[in-house]
Amino acid sequence: MSGLTLQINLSDEIATKTLASKLAQSCRHGAVIYLHGDLGAGKTTFSRYLLQALGHQGNVKSPTYTLVETYQLDTLAVFHFDLYRLHDPEELEFMGIRDYFAPEHLCVVEWPERGQPLLPVPDLDLQLKITSASARQLQINALTARGAAMLELIV
Ligand code: ADP
Ligand code: MG
Repeated sequence: MSGLTLQINLSDEIATKTLASKLAQSCRHGAVIYLHGDLGAGKTTFSRYLLQALGHQGNVKSPTYTLVETYQLDTLAVFHFDLYRLHDPEELEFMGIRDYFAPEHLCVVEWPERGQPLLPVPDLDLQLKITSASARQLQINALTARGAAMLELIV
């Protein structure tokens, strides 16, 4: 549905932080966000700024080896996935993937393509591209009504 798309030039890491902070405001009641992009594109960096903007203090580890890191914030449970090392999407079944993706949770997923076809449609689909040492091109697609509403809050 919807087909709402936004292209943003993140000229430096501060711009990424600012965008993540804006997006955080629309995530407080839960959302599913996919992050696509090559290694080093900034998926974990974006997730870190998002978590910080949501009030998380302390470390945000890359979930590369654990597949998922959990953050219980005051009023929001956040699950940060990195599926780069997922060998078989069926591992997600063993993890009890459906319980993570409750509508009131915030799920941020790096390398979601490795989890298909078992992951739900995301509210927002983000694609990060490296354009220079410090700049990233970000495309955001809203794929649900909730995602479209989230996107409207940041334009
Ligand atoms: P990924 O999770 O996509 O593999 P990381 O977030 O771990 O990537 O690494 C991105 C790297 O790029 C970090 O070292 C970060 O400091 C750097 N970087 C440079 N410019 C930007 C930017 N505009 N936005 C995000 N990260 C940036
Ligand atoms: Mg990463």
